[in-house]
Parts: sequence; structure tokens; C-alpha cells
Amino acid sequence: MSDVDVRRRVPRTDVVLTDARLVDATQRLGRATVKAAVAAAQERARRGELAPERVPDAAVAALPERAGSIRPVINATGVVLHTNLGRAALSDAALDAVRAAAGHTDVELDLATGRRSRRGRGALAALAGAVPAAEAVHVVNNGAAALLLAATVLATGREIVVSRGELVEIGDGFRLPDLIRSTGARLREVGTTNRTTLRDYAEALGPETGFVLKVHPSNFVVQGFTSAVPVAALARLDVPLVADIGSGLLAPEPLLPDEPDAATTLAAGATLVTASGDKLLGGPQAGLLLGRAGVVEALRRHPLARALRVDKLTLAALEATLTGPPSPTALALRAGVTGLRERAERLAVRLRAAGVAAAARDSASVVGGGGAPGVVLPSAAVRLSAELAAGLRTGTPAVVGHVERGALLLDLRCVRPADDDALYTAVVAAAEAGSA
Ligand SMILES: *Cc1c(COP(=O)(O)O)cnc(C)c1O
Repeated sequence: MSDVDVRRRVPRTDVVLTDARLVDATQRLGRATVKAAVAAAQERARRGELAPERVPDAAVAALPERAGSIRPVINATGVVLHTNLGRAALSDAALDAVRAAAGHTDVELDLATGRRSRRGRGALAALAGAVPAAEAVHVVNNGAAALLLAATVLATGREIVVSRGELVEIGDGFRLPDLIRSTGARLREVGTTNRTTLRDYAEALGPETGFVLKVHPSNFVVQGFTSAVPVAALARLDVPLVADIGSGLLAPEPLLPDEPDAATTLAAGATLVTASGDKLLGGPQAGLLLGRAGVVEALRRHPLARALRVDKLTLAALEATLTGPPSPTALALRAGVTGLRERAERLAVRLRAAGVAAAARDSASVVGGGGAPGVVLPSAAVRLSAELAAGLRTGTPAVVGHVERGALLLDLRCVRPADDDALYTAVVAAAEAGSA
């Protein structure tokens, strides 16, 4: 057959689009996505890579699973809160709540009276209930926004006194000192990188002081000749104390004894605590503000608060995270190494039976994402050939592990046990694709 014949036989777009499966896909995914898949299949047929009558099948096969380009990933990195993988994964309870909140909702309406009500009252009540030491709470877009709001309301044009040991870069080039300066507050740095004393703070206080800021160095540790001033001592200075605890633990976590929590920090006398919702709390991206009623009310009333307002999906997920079953983050953190080893062993046995070189081995996971630096959680992994890494990353579902000394390790701490089968299937598929 000549090129011209093939071109003539490639079915026209309007004809292909009458295929029932593509009609259905247009409802789910939108016309543009379906037409792009059809165009790609037609192009392959024109190049002779595909029989013309196979165009509809090929278009169906190439359709994405869902609208939107963000793809689910099985986190086999061993990093519980991986920033590049979206930090905390939501619980099924939170997902349900998000789905219910996605349509029209009563987020700002009291259905009993028909009157306007406080936005997100359920999430706020759940947060206040979880931390009785907080007189009032407020929620904004993320941890950085919480700090931005506090600095704007309490210290614009004035000084924020902070230790040189706590001027943190969060990641991706973002530095807390730059964020704070952007509000018009001035930083008054005290002490040194490794040692700051109560006297350093006391000597810096004056009429210009807006507040003292205590930042948890959540992604590094300073070891050796060090000293820092605890919240309880700073709280006795006669100025407001804002504590950025970072990770969002609301109460002490026995597994992470050095990680600060909101309840303890407030009980020690902090005026205001700021934290992230999607770190150790295991919820949606959000910034939590907890503390004295007068201060929280001033934050809530400031014009900037409107620009940092969270949407109903966040409020729904946050409330369900606070009131529902343990989050995937909590489950990953608490997973015992014995159970992880058993799962790794079972997976390795199944994979070898399918002809894939695999072995169970001990590994080490970390909290990551700005929490509990230096803490190593003993874990277990399946060791595979590093050649499978790319195929697993680009498969469905995508699987991300980590390559160590020439081998690919799939650490099971952050893989839900219910996903072990999907992980097995993904590895077998990647191995088959690799040998094909
Ligand atoms: C993570 C972190 C932040 C930033 O929080 P986001 O929710 O990422 O905006 C600020 N301060 C500390 C100490 C952190 O660990």
C-alpha cells in the first residue's frame, strides 16, 4: 500500500469520536484530552506504526486515568513527609470529607437558622478541642502564611527578636528571615549560630520590640558546644512570644521526643504557636495559629487574613484529620519494624516467584519534610535492580523508591499495606517492560 492509500484510510476525527468508549471518556475527561489522544493515534497510523482500524483502540489506551495531570505515587522512598511527593497523604476519612465539601456546602451558613456562620467552624472547633491550652485558633494557607500574618499584625515597622541559630531556610531557596522582612518587620538577630542565651534576648528588648520569635530548626541539628533558650524562659520576658514549631504536632509524640508540640509550647507560656497542617499532623496543606484569644482575634481581623484564607476543601480535610482515624503519616511513623520486615519478605518471595530478582533487607527511613532531623526509623525494603527505577517511576501507579549503591530500594514504611499488591504488580510490569 502506498503512503497516500494509508493516509486516506486513517479514520477521520469525527468518525473516531463516535466510538462509545470515547463518547464516555469525553464526559469524564473533556473533549480536548480525548481529541489529543485521537490525534496521536491518527499520527501513528499515518506513519504506518498502527493499522488504521486500530486508531480508536489506541486512542482509548492512551487516555489518562483522570482529568488533571497530577498523578498518584506510591511513596517507597522511606521518607515519611517527602516535599516533592506532596508531604502528608490524606486519610480515607479526609478524602471522603473533601469529596463531600467539593460541591455547594454549609461552610459559611448555619442550616438550622439560615444565617451566615463562621467559616470552617467545624475544623476550628476540632483544632481547639485537640489543644485545650489554646484560647483561640485560626487557620491559613500554610505554615509560612501563619508566620507572615503574625509578623504583619504584631511587628510591622517594629523588631522581631530572633536567635542567629534559628534563621532557617525551609527549602527551595525560601528563607524565614526573607519572609519576615517582606512584612516590613525588622529582624533583631541575637546570639550566635551555636549559642544564644536568655541575656542575649533580654538585652535586645526595648520599645521597638514587636515580639520574640522562637523557630524550631526543623531540618537540621547543631551539635557540640550549643545552647538555646527554652520557651518557658523566653515566655517570662515581658513581650509576646511567637513559637514556630514547624511540624504541627499538637501533643507530644513519644517516638519523636525532641520535636516540639503545640500543647506543651502553649503550656510553657508562648503567646502564639504557628505550625503546618501537612507535616506530622498528617493533614492538608494549612497553617495553624493557636494561642491567646486577643492575639488570634487580631490576626483574624487583619485585611491580610482574607488573602491567606483557606478553602472549604482544606477545612474539610483538616477537620476529618483531627477527628478521624490515625492519618497515613501517623501510621507510617508508628509502623513496627517487625511487620515491615514481614511485608518486605513476602513481597520479595512473590517477586522472585515471578522471575524478578528481589531480596528483603533492612533499611532506614526518616521523617523528612521539615521534622525530626537526625531521627532514623528502622525500616525494611525490597532490593531490586536499579534498572527498574525509571520504569517504576513512569508506570501506573508511579512508584518512587531510592537508589543506594547501585540497587533500587523500595522502603515499605510509607507504603500502605493495602498497596502491597499494587506495588507487586507495578514491579512485575516494570521488569517485563524492561526485558521486552
Ligand atoms: C515547614 C516549616 C515552615 C513552613 O511551613 P509551610 O507549611 O511549608 O509553609 C516554617 N517554619 C518551620 C520551622 C518549618 O518547619
